[in-house]
Amino acid sequence: MQFSQQGPYQIQGLSLEALAQEYGTPLYVYDADIIERQVQSLHTAFGGLKHRIKYAAKALTNQAILKLMNKNGVELDVVSIEEAQLGLQAGFAPSQILYTPNSVSFKEIQEAVALGLTINIDNISILEQFGNAYESSVPCCIRINPHIVAGGNAKIQTGHIDSKFGISILQMKHVARVVRSSNIRVEGLHIHTGSEFLNSDVFLQGAELVFDAATDFPDLRFIDFGSGFKVAYKEGDHVTDVMELGQKMTQAFKRFCAEYGRELEIWFEPGKYLVSECGYLLANANVVKTTPSSVFVGVDTGLNHLIRPMMYDAYHEIVNISNPEGAKRIYTVVGYICETDTFGYDRKLSEVREGDVIAFLNAGAYGFSMSSNYNSRLRPAEVLIYKGKAHLIRRREVLDDLLRTQVDFQV
Ligand SMILES: *Cc1c(COP(=O)(O)O)cnc(C)c1O
Repeated sequence: MQFSQQGPYQIQGLSLEALAQEYGTPLYVYDADIIERQVQSLHTAFGGLKHRIKYAAKALTNQAILKLMNKNGVELDVVSIEEAQLGLQAGFAPSQILYTPNSVSFKEIQEAVALGLTINIDNISILEQFGNAYESSVPCCIRINPHIVAGGNAKIQTGHIDSKFGISILQMKHVARVVRSSNIRVEGLHIHTGSEFLNSDVFLQGAELVFDAATDFPDLRFIDFGSGFKVAYKEGDHVTDVMELGQKMTQAFKRFCAEYGRELEIWFEPGKYLVSECGYLLANANVVKTTPSSVFVGVDTGLNHLIRPMMYDAYHEIVNISNPEGAKRIYTVVGYICETDTFGYDRKLSEVREGDVIAFLNAGAYGFSMSSNYNSRLRPAEVLIYKGKAHLIRRREVLDDLLRTQVDFQV
């Protein structure tokens, strides 16, 4: 959360309301300073180790954001061949990109190999095909499911026993057999316990399991601990203390490397941690509607542009930036889609007048990247505030964008 209900509602000295006037609403605005601050905190926390930060591109894939990451010494974690291609287009070298797909065809994995990406394998059947195709000529990483249930919404837990992600830690002996038989070079082990873990102890618990598993893999170059870094969405939220985590992990990792007999690299793949707080979705208050039970504020955006509240019950702070002095009133803020797309129930906002600009905070991660054209609505523009200046990094869609892929057919 970057500012209080009191304002001023500015990014690097630029007024959010003026940005809404200039570029129109709905509008995504990102603050590059916050991204750089978050990156630096990780570089500092893990500075005692050979570390790599692989930004989970799916959180926000705009080319300008990817270039900003690259400039700040951050590499990339991608989950699809298309994300990899966006990364290459933004200037990343193939060797900087870790490809961590799930349920993709072997054909797509072959394409990723051809591009020169580092391949993260999360299925024994794929591992066997990989061994048959490449033997030791192409190294790979193995995604382990440690069966640790980390916090957060059930839909973003990936480490539990029913999860489709990763190869079970209980199957590591089987994996080691496949690896030896096919002469596969396993250069990395990976775990990603889910999108939000509660404390550094859960993280360390996962780490110990991977350290144990590592003894079966003599060719390791790195261990990737995925993500799970939490940021605050509302006051009082638990936040990952990256400095504390850095200290504990540095100790544990150094001890492990000494036992393993070689200094390995430690990798992380934060998405949300790097880009959640940098982003604001600005919308216009189209209507204020009083019903027998509530006062609704209806805005010119909806689940088509920010789906997290509806999909994950995620809490996004909502602020009326046009009326900072206004009396506080209780509102239910809803979207304009023909679904119940409620952004927040019973929120205390400065009195909302039709035409005011409403800001949704923490909208950088999984905001635009999960947006759609549902209800045939156009997707918003994106603006990056960089070194005190606003830059349009994606134009607003126009009707033609909706028709572009349709093929004319006379019925
Ligand atoms: C989504 C994802 C991440 C990033 O998760 P955040 O909660 O955004 O930090 C990291 N690694 C993998 C493999 C993922 O799928």
